[in-house]
Amino acid sequence: LTRYLLFLLVLALGSPRPATAVVEEALGVTSYTVTVKDPASHLLEISIVVDDPGGDSVDFSLPVWTPGSYLVREFARNVQDFRVVRGGTSWRKVDKNTWRVQRGSGPLEVSYRVYANELTVRTSHCDDGHAFLAGAGLFMYVAGAKDRPCRVALSLPPGWEVETALPRTGESTFEASDYDMLVDSPIECGRIRRVEFVAAGKPHVITLWGRGNEDERRLADDFRRLVEAAAAIFGGTLPYDRYVFILHLYPGGSGGLEHRASTAIGASPFVFQNKESYRDFLDLVAHEHFHAWLAKRIRPEAHGPFDYEHEAYTRMLWLTEGGTDFFASEVVRRAGLMSETAYREALARIIRDLDNTPGRTHMSLEEASFDTWVKYYRANEHAVNSQVSYYTKGAVVCAMLDAELRAAPQGPRKLDDVVKLLWERYGSRGVGVPEDAVEAAFVEVGGPAMAEWFDRYVRGTGEIDYDRHLARLGWRLKKEPPKTDSRVSPAPGGWLGAQVTNENGRAMVKSVLEGSPAWTAGLNTGDELLALDGWRVTADSLAERLADRRPGTAVLLTVFRRDELRSIRVVLDELPAEKYMIELIGDGDSGRSQPAEPSQRRRDRS
Ligand SMILES: [Zn+2]
Repeated sequence: LTRYLLFLLVLALGSPRPATAVVEEALGVTSYTVTVKDPASHLLEISIVVDDPGGDSVDFSLPVWTPGSYLVREFARNVQDFRVVRGGTSWRKVDKNTWRVQRGSGPLEVSYRVYANELTVRTSHCDDGHAFLAGAGLFMYVAGAKDRPCRVALSLPPGWEVETALPRTGESTFEASDYDMLVDSPIECGRIRRVEFVAAGKPHVITLWGRGNEDERRLADDFRRLVEAAAAIFGGTLPYDRYVFILHLYPGGSGGLEHRASTAIGASPFVFQNKESYRDFLDLVAHEHFHAWLAKRIRPEAHGPFDYEHEAYTRMLWLTEGGTDFFASEVVRRAGLMSETAYREALARIIRDLDNTPGRTHMSLEEASFDTWVKYYRANEHAVNSQVSYYTKGAVVCAMLDAELRAAPQGPRKLDDVVKLLWERYGSRGVGVPEDAVEAAFVEVGGPAMAEWFDRYVRGTGEIDYDRHLARLGWRLKKEPPKTDSRVSPAPGGWLGAQVTNENGRAMVKSVLEGSPAWTAGLNTGDELLALDGWRVTADSLAERLADRRPGTAVLLTVFRRDELRSIRVVLDELPAEKYMIELIGDGDSGRSQPAEPSQRRRDRS
């Protein structure tokens, strides 16, 4: 009724404000207060005030997943002490993540506490030094009112500071245009360090929690170069007014999560001086930042406004994630922070990773994207045989299509031109990208032949024609079997095809590659390997023993399977090529390309 009267009033008076302001006023505001009273308890206290809830009851729901990380995480499991503070008479749960409050009179206020002790980029974490507030697992939304503006007030221990991409309205108060924006703007508070820089005319902030061997001035300088190299792809402009890099340094820290005008990144404290680990770190930063365009604004239709109750399905993650991996390497290289030689080494590494994934023949990129909720994010020991990573294959396919675009019939093009087209047509207008628009954009930029590559590489599981595509760049792929260690064996050893790791001194089979000798012989994941040809083996000595045996010879493995002693005869095969290099054509035995070692790149970025 109130809204209707207001509407009539506006009509009667003539519209004194733009229509959007009227709508906001009519909708009311949802106000959140986060109190950090006893940070060492890891408990955050949340209160929500709804001005004008309407109806006999109001549902408060907590998302079951967070955008950017495609797994139902059931954040409601961390909620406790829900209560009605005022404006309601009673409450009850109506499903796993929804609290239904019976209305009283006046503004409605509820409160609850959230246990925040999971230190990742996608979950809230609170301890005596800081609180990282990740919105999806923290802020309940009012059913039917996600488009209302939100206000956030923070009540923090003395001396704590706050940083977030949300516009500030006071010392520790912020506002968000709607619930999506609130969830998409993590808040870092605590005794944090702040490094500021300007890139492409816009202010940027790095907040640091934790310490390591970082050099703050170098970080600011290198981040600025990454931001400007990315902006150059889109005409030198940035799609936000201000950007915040939230950086958490702690042992085992890894991963990143993208947001519209910020990112949260975890890193080990000592990655900043070693050349390779620092380059991997910069690649992760470039990846998350590039998402400001690709994924956050050039986004699938299902990715905003979000349905926080259900999985948001798209066949496009190979572009938004794999494509972002491709552009991250491009940005690091174009920023002058990686040589072309190192770039080719990195590409050879991910091609090698893809070749060593039997699952690439079973799952297409579109399937990998669509099923990520139950596959990539819930990988088991069989994943390598049944799945393909839309990061790895997506980046490889983007690199190959980029090479192919350079020979487009209407003149040389690049993948840059495809994302620019998607940006102009959808991203810059705030419109989601329809599922079939990606292929259409490739065809528009590169001609009808692009549709055939989509059939083969994106919808299909066809093997990638590296010779053809790399030649477009003047490059070629070279594979070599691993060099024989003459101290161990005079000739190449035999291949088993099982991953065996040391678990408390026991040699446990962790996975068996489809089609490998171990697979054919019936070795199982979970088998405990005891001996090879009657001699004890450990996870460490297995490789040496296999190096003694020639391809084609049979070995007898002794294993425990569920405590039962078993013997398994395995005929060893030739070792697959382990060294991948991308050489310049005409560079002969160049020696300029270093062989690619197995990739150690973390795959927990989002
Ligand atoms: Zn990502």
